[in-house]
Amino acid sequence: MDKVILLKPYFSHTIWGGTKLRDEFGYDEPGDDIGECWGISAHPSGESVVASGEFKGLKLSELWNDHRELFGNTEGDRFPLLIKIIDANKDLSIQVHPDDAYAAEHENGSLGKNECWYVLDCPEDGELIAGHNASSKEELVDMIDNGRWDELLRRVKVKPGDMIRIDSGTIHAITAGVCVLETQQSSDITYRLYDYGRLQNGKPRPLHLDKSKDVITVPAAPVEEQVYHIADETGNNISKLVETKYFTVSKIKVNGEYTFETDAGFLCVSVLNGSGKVFDTDVKKGSHMLVTAEGAKEVRLSGDMEIIFSRV
Ligand code: ZN
Repeated sequence: MDKVILLKPYFSHTIWGGTKLRDEFGYDEPGDDIGECWGISAHPSGESVVASGEFKGLKLSELWNDHRELFGNTEGDRFPLLIKIIDANKDLSIQVHPDDAYAAEHENGSLGKNECWYVLDCPEDGELIAGHNASSKEELVDMIDNGRWDELLRRVKVKPGDMIRIDSGTIHAITAGVCVLETQQSSDITYRLYDYGRLQNGKPRPLHLDKSKDVITVPAAPVEEQVYHIADETGNNISKLVETKYFTVSKIKVNGEYTFETDAGFLCVSVLNGSGKVFDTDVKKGSHMLVTAEGAKEVRLSGDMEIIFSRV
């Protein structure tokens, strides 16, 4: 069994995208509106394709459906995670995602969406929108209905290396100049709450105010539970960045050689900086891969690089 399976990402082009994903991550993708690199995805809206080994050319969903042994026979009717790099050249709309129960009932059995962002790059004094300032549902509804956005939206300061946890029900938006690696449940159910009054092709994009009001958590979780920073100056150890019911995300700064054991069925691995090897496979900044059940038992890394990995 292959221990590492490299994946070829899917790219989404958006009105708020740019060229950073090509310029800084080296992806061979044309256009000046590249918004997202879906590095590890089995979502029908944009799938990764196997780029190495005996399964080369298969979609990740096919690998999941037909070769579950590679994933340690992890159960589930769909591959559970979606790993993206998002480059916001302009502000993204203000949005919120439902949880599993709401999505199952209102969105044809889709999964809800919990997500988290690891900040790769941002302007000095960078800010993201995470949470809100309403203390009751009535106040929330009033602020939305009367467009009191400056009062409602909670802006949080961020810097590179911060982890931002966005549980379902959390109002959020990535702002201009911020680049993140996002780990999320494999879903794209999004309720748009506010789009700064912008027009696309002469028309406002649709809003989903009633569903947003249904699913927004009131009051919002405190900032300390949403934004945190785990420094690792020494390298060669695992820093757990976030752990939820849906995923655990960790970071390793590899310096020389580093080996670690897990009991995961599989790992989703992305290289953020530098280059090196995962087992015998050459990887570099921007590489995305699965470490299969066989590899996840004892993962061997070498080189000079920073990686993020996630597991269910
Ligand atoms: Zn989101």
